[in-house]
Amino acid sequence: MFNIEKLVRQNIRQMKPYSSARDEFKGTATVFIDANENNIGSLAGNNYNRYPDPHQKKLKSRLAKIKGVEPEQIFLGNGSDEAIDLLLRLVCRPGQDALLQLPPTYGMYEVSANLNEVRIDTVQLTADFQIPVEEVLRQLKPETKIVFICSPNNPTGNSINPESIEAILDAFDGLVVVDEAYIDFAHNPSWTTRLQEFPNLVVMQTLSKAWGMAGLRLGMAFASAEIITYLDKIKPPYNINEATQELALAALEKSEELKFMVEEIVQERELLTHALPRLKSVLKVYPSDANFLLVKVTDANGLYNYLLGNGIVVRNRSSLKGCEGCLRISVGTLEENQQLLQSIEEFR
Ligand code: PMP
Repeated sequence: MFNIEKLVRQNIRQMKPYSSARDEFKGTATVFIDANENNIGSLAGNNYNRYPDPHQKKLKSRLAKIKGVEPEQIFLGNGSDEAIDLLLRLVCRPGQDALLQLPPTYGMYEVSANLNEVRIDTVQLTADFQIPVEEVLRQLKPETKIVFICSPNNPTGNSINPESIEAILDAFDGLVVVDEAYIDFAHNPSWTTRLQEFPNLVVMQTLSKAWGMAGLRLGMAFASAEIITYLDKIKPPYNINEATQELALAALEKSEELKFMVEEIVQERELLTHALPRLKSVLKVYPSDANFLLVKVTDANGLYNYLLGNGIVVRNRSSLKGCEGCLRISVGTLEENQQLLQSIEEFR
């Protein structure tokens, strides 16, 4: 049975969180000399001399409406990379506990685990990049506190079968984190729609991809209010800066434009999916629900360097187990994609 109190590390359950100046004062006032700010002003303008809202109330209330969840079910991080690290630290004791990951997948689960001295258990995805569920269930140990599932998966681009994720959610009483950084490019619904059913489910999303705000660093985790309260307890107090809060809030009003941008990217992705396999150095383009393609080529290192020589940077994933011979290529603008196709055509 899942029990968040039992899962959270004892030191975190017992500790007192940092209490900021703005937490301790409730009410109205005109003179704020409680936070050692510069009350003369800011060289950056715009009230940036003041600390930002540590609870990001306006942003969460807007996001709650867009995502169809309660504000209490939202954690905001300095990118979803921060959420990955905090989730890991919330439940995994250094030197004792473990996470389970499913490579080839996003690299930060492993980096955060190594940083925090958390054991990494690994079950390789199948040849079609799906989860071998029986094998995963066999690998879940008493020390396993968290399973990271990336869907759509980076760098393979495919979505993970929902039945497999559901089987793990049912069988495992640790946290199951579904990383949906690329969900806006997929057809399948988000797992946020199923948060009520699974108390051990955490869904991560980000404004870095479809929303086009990688530079602002705003990641989201959606889960039960209990899990979110614990994440808020251990986050750095002002982890989302004021500029990010303001700019993200303004951008969230433009969800109509988001739709058009996503449509254009998906359309370009489909064009590349059809055009690339016609080139003689391309062996296979894997189906993608994301804004990138995993492409198997005849000579990955050769083509990678050749493209670099032409001023085009792609991601060489050919040394990754399961991605041998593969490059990962983000969908660019129409012009960039034409340039890419032209360059690959001229290779050798
Ligand atoms: N998850 C996945 C699967 C990603 O590919 C990335 C970014 N490459 C992230 C999380 C991190 O995103 P953010 O910019 O929100 O930290």
